[in-house]
Amino acid sequence: MRDRNSLRSTLLDLDGRGYKAYKDIKGRYSFPNFTLIIDRVQGDPFASPSQLRVQVPQSIAQFPPHLYASLSREIALRDYLTRQFDRAAQQVSSRRGTGKSGLIAITRFGQEILERTAVFVDDEVEVRFIVGLPAQGRRILGRQAAAMLCEDIPEIVESALKYASLDSQTIQKHVETAEDADELRSSLSQHNLIAFVADGAILPRRSGVDDRPLLEAVVPFESPPSLRVELTCPNQGKITGMGVPEGITLIVGGGYHGKSTLLRALEVSVYNHIPGDGREFVVMNPAAVKIRAEDGRSIADTNISPFINQLPQGRSTVRFSTANASGSTSQAANIMEALEVGAKVLLMDEDTSATNFTIRDRRMQQLISKNKEPITPYIDKVRQLYEEYGVSTILVMGGSGDYFEVADTVVAMDNFQAHEVTAKAKEIAIAYASDRLSEGGETFGTITPRVPINSSIDPSRGKRAVKVKVRDVDEVAFGSEEIDLGAVEQIVDAGQLRAIATAIVYAKENYIDQKQTLSTLLDRVLGDIEEEGLDAIAEFPRGDLVFFRRFELAAALNRLRTLEIV
Ligand code: ADP
Ligand code: MG
Repeated sequence: MRDRNSLRSTLLDLDGRGYKAYKDIKGRYSFPNFTLIIDRVQGDPFASPSQLRVQVPQSIAQFPPHLYASLSREIALRDYLTRQFDRAAQQVSSRRGTGKSGLIAITRFGQEILERTAVFVDDEVEVRFIVGLPAQGRRILGRQAAAMLCEDIPEIVESALKYASLDSQTIQKHVETAEDADELRSSLSQHNLIAFVADGAILPRRSGVDDRPLLEAVVPFESPPSLRVELTCPNQGKITGMGVPEGITLIVGGGYHGKSTLLRALEVSVYNHIPGDGREFVVMNPAAVKIRAEDGRSIADTNISPFINQLPQGRSTVRFSTANASGSTSQAANIMEALEVGAKVLLMDEDTSATNFTIRDRRMQQLISKNKEPITPYIDKVRQLYEEYGVSTILVMGGSGDYFEVADTVVAMDNFQAHEVTAKAKEIAIAYASDRLSEGGETFGTITPRVPINSSIDPSRGKRAVKVKVRDVDEVAFGSEEIDLGAVEQIVDAGQLRAIATAIVYAKENYIDQKQTLSTLLDRVLGDIEEEGLDAIAEFPRGDLVFFRRFELAAALNRLRTLEIV
């Protein structure tokens, strides 16, 4: 294997030559403390940066095995090292010429602790990152490249990937926090809970574009005494907070009193959060799916008949397709598709729900008779969904008291403080009857599995068999199609979307065969990932894939406008 000195002299030799000559440096290099691998070399200074790896043996890195002894801990340690590598890379990375010249970077991340392909820890620490190989115009800057690869990268390894250089208490806290959260989450069901919000949790965020905790004038969460439970986790020990029971929960309260903030915290608490985030000990059933209206989305043969029937022009709703759904039909499809792949909790906010999907009061029932209204509102289905399918709902509803009858638990937010008002709401429901006629029928109806057609999923574009590109957390360019995921709110990281797009291609190549249902396909793909890690779905070692759930993979496929069903 070539070494650091030979890499340095190769780079110095390349100085002043055309950019393409960089291709020569592909390969493995043995450095004093680690191995440097140059996997892919970019074609020019403006192209996607080059992809590199470092592998540091534990004889050098020296992370004590207890820091990665369980899966929770391992994922958290990898997350921690991703953040440390980023910090160190930002310190040394600087502009050194044209385009992306000088860049050293690792995949981007937010407040969540997620499994990523950026860092692996076992008998060695492997980190995958990108480098903008430096050039002036299209001429190689050889001395600059030598400084980056032979000086800066060893410095980053020294300060970010060696246990001795890091703060042992902070690392310990990081892995213990994730382990506790995982334990809390998996203990929910044995307490008949779907969610837990720890006392003292900080739920509001700094701004709509800044996911860090709000700093000023924050009201920490405090459980209503009647909903307070005590759970036990391995590191923190006992921890108290609000337990949200299975069934139907309403979050009510005046405008601007913190309802949506509580729901948003629950939505993203299917994931773990870093220490200091404020939501570390807020945990949600991992099969919870946020549902909202999403007019304009496409729908491919989804059975929305439990909610929508007798459309004008006699259109079928058992296999309902459209290129342009309305608010209510999109919300119905979002629910049915989530149920199809195993959702156990539905989360809804009046702010983003279609009104006519959510409520239909006595007066409207009088004016527009049932046989003239295709929509059966959610209020008439929510109990059937729980009783027949065991699917719970948490609904933010400040605008209508009609749900009081069907709720099991009512939480009122008042000045950002939670109170349990179930008994009072039930009294009011009796004193002021809504006089609604139930329109839900005998049973909820059928959840129909669908079987996707392979040829309708086409990632190719022009001469390239696979061309997928992700824009932030909202959009995937998939072949010649755009998949809009702006309304799929539990995708929190662009790397999740990259992994989802990659997984669709993987599913097409390996499993989609006109026989297997969408749900079985998800089992297969996620089973492979569980066994082999996210690398299972990628063709080469890439550092930019992030853990995703089956629900978001299904959501992406369901929004592919070319999707066809057998
Ligand atoms: P609602 O849905 O009840 O109308 P929101 O949840 O949107 O209210 O909250 C309104 C505002 O209050 C938001 O700017 C939010 O960041 C802030 N907020 C929410 N919870 C808290 C809290 N616990 N402490 C301080 N500010 C909060
Ligand atoms: Mg709101």
